[in-house]
Amino acid sequence: MSAIDGLPPLREVIASHGLSARKSLGQNFLLDLNLTAKIARQAGDLSGMDVLEVGPGPGGLTRGLLAEGARKVLAVEKDTRCLPALAEIAEAYPDRLEVISGDALELDLLSRLTPPVAICANLPYNVGTELLVRWLTPEAWPPQWQTLTLMFQREVAERIVATPGSKAYGRLAVLAQWRCDARIVLSLPPGAFTPPPKVSSAVVHLKALPEPRFEADRKVLERVVAAAFNQRRKMMRASLKGLAPDIEDKLHTAGILPTERAEQVSLEQFCALARLLA
Ligand code: SAM
Repeated sequence: MSAIDGLPPLREVIASHGLSARKSLGQNFLLDLNLTAKIARQAGDLSGMDVLEVGPGPGGLTRGLLAEGARKVLAVEKDTRCLPALAEIAEAYPDRLEVISGDALELDLLSRLTPPVAICANLPYNVGTELLVRWLTPEAWPPQWQTLTLMFQREVAERIVATPGSKAYGRLAVLAQWRCDARIVLSLPPGAFTPPPKVSSAVVHLKALPEPRFEADRKVLERVVAAAFNQRRKMMRASLKGLAPDIEDKLHTAGILPTERAEQVSLEQFCALARLLA
């Protein structure tokens, strides 16, 4: 069966361009174009949107994003071996795919796009969390993007959507849910990837809220949350004692028991505490 874009199947692309997967680059490829189209659809209606994709690899998800109608895709790939395969996709979708060769951690990519912007990626696991935290903590809010649709290891996806009282609840959940609606939209077994990773994966969809859910200074909130979860087994009064001499009073005022542990504290309470510490 020929693909909707007239391009060869991904297994052929990999074979003809010699794209054997490299572990050091977090390469676990998606070769099923039905699946990549399904992931692209989780990003919502892409017509009229610019899309940033990190790590297109042989281009399965890139093809999904373009076929689903993205106005433009900006794809940044560190592995130069993938560039010829991506050039073939650019040819099949004139003026809609721009490929940048480089490291996503070292480039200012969002300023190259025209809003509205969606970010969609099957992220390399070794840089996924770092990129997510950067996208969640820009200097100004609302950010330059509207939605993030990102593949993570299942365990990381669960940390993003976790609620208080669960083991997965921590810094990522607070940062993500403070300014976004976040949910897991798709779960994938290791066998969906080539080569299969050791663990399961999941796609998380985050939608930026126009305003943070509760008022707080971002830097203070980040400091409080980092201190609280760095020593998550300690009581809040112990893990935060360096932040203020009267931390117990402030915890009480924020509605937090000083003897509670960070994983019991709600987002609203963390924000109340950050306001008191600002
Ligand atoms: N999107 C492709 C797919 O779904 O089949 C490939 C996904 S693979 C998990 C991750 C991709 O990110 C690889 O192509 C890898 O070369 C690329 N990559 C790894 N680190 C990167 C970085 N720092 N900047 C840009 N791309 C990177």
